[in-house]
Amino acid sequence: MQVLVAHAPREMAVEERPKPEPGPGEVQVKTRVVALCGSDLHLYDGTHPYRTYPTIFGHEASGWVTQVGDGVSELSKGDHVVLEPCMWCGECYPCSIGRYNCCSRMRTIGVTEPGALADFYVAPARALHRIPEDLSPQAASLCEPHSVGFHANARGGVNDSDQVVVIGAGPIGLTILAGAKLRGAQVAIIDLIDKRLETARRMGADLTINADKADPVETIREWTGGNMASVVVEAVGQPKTIESTIQLVADGGRVVIAGVTEEFFSLRGVDITKKELTIYGSRNNLGVFKDAVEYVTNNADLAATMITREYPFEDAIEAFETTLAHPEQVCKVVINFET
Ligand SMILES: [Zn+2]
Ligand SMILES: [Zn+2]
Repeated sequence: MQVLVAHAPREMAVEERPKPEPGPGEVQVKTRVVALCGSDLHLYDGTHPYRTYPTIFGHEASGWVTQVGDGVSELSKGDHVVLEPCMWCGECYPCSIGRYNCCSRMRTIGVTEPGALADFYVAPARALHRIPEDLSPQAASLCEPHSVGFHANARGGVNDSDQVVVIGAGPIGLTILAGAKLRGAQVAIIDLIDKRLETARRMGADLTINADKADPVETIREWTGGNMASVVVEAVGQPKTIESTIQLVADGGRVVIAGVTEEFFSLRGVDITKKELTIYGSRNNLGVFKDAVEYVTNNADLAATMITREYPFEDAIEAFETTLAHPEQVCKVVINFET
C-alpha cells in the first residue's frame, strides 16, 4: 500500500509499505477521505509542540473496516467508520478523574502514532465510530474537528442565555460556532479574513467582525448592551488574541483557550481578579464525539460549506504546501483516496 511518510519538517514522501495487520482489539481500515487539520500543517512545517519524526499524519479520517482483530465484536468488515484519534492510558491522574482527553500519556493516531494518510491504517476498535453508510466520506471527515469545537463549548458551559465571542473563523473557530449555536447561544465571531466570516455567517453567526475594519471591543460592547461577552473562546493560538479575551469578556465571565501556542502571553492580574474570571484550557474532546457525528449527519450541506478544496492522494504534498502558503484562501482541505 502507499503511505505518506514525514521524515523531517517539510520532508515528506509517498512510500510503499506492507498493509498493517490488526492485533487483538484492533481494526484495519481502508482510508476514504482525510481532512487536513491545522495541527497536521504545523506538524508538517515543524512548528507543532508534539511533533516526532518519522511519522504518518492524518487523523480527521473516514473509511471502512476491512479486517478486525481478535476480540473485536463491536465492528465488522464493511462498516463505515470515522476515527477518534486519541488513545488514553486509563491510569494517570486526569484519566482517574474521567478527563481522559488530557491524559498525561496520551498517544494520538496521526501525531505520535502512524496516522491515516495511507491506503490503510490500524486503530483500536474503541477509537472508531460507526457512521451511516450514506454519509459522504468528505462530510464524515469533519466529525473530529466538530468534536473539538463541541468540547470547547462544554468547557465554557455555553448555554442559551450566553452571548459568546469566538476569536478566529478558521475550521476550529467554525466548529466552536456550530457547537455554540447548537446550545442556543448568540454568537459573534472575529477574524481578519472576510471570506472566513462569510462562511461563519452561513454557519449561523449572529455577528461577524473583521478586526481590521472595526474595533472588536467597541462592537461587542454595543452588541451586549455594555455587558461584554459572557463567554469568549480563543481559537487562533496567538499571544495577542489570547490577551484580547480579557477585554472582550464580561465581569464574572468565562474564557476558553482552544488555540495552541508555545509562546508566553501576559494578562494583567487585576483584570482576572476584579472580573473574577474563569479561564479554561480546552483540548481534544471528552465524550462528545457521538454528538459531532450526529451533527455532521444531520447537516447535509456542511461539507459544501466548509470544504474548499479536494486533492487526490497522489497530490497530498501539494495540498500541504498550498494550504500553508495561502491559508487565507482555504477553509477545510481534504485528501481523497478514491480519486
Ligand atoms: Zn484535527
Ligand atoms: Zn492517562
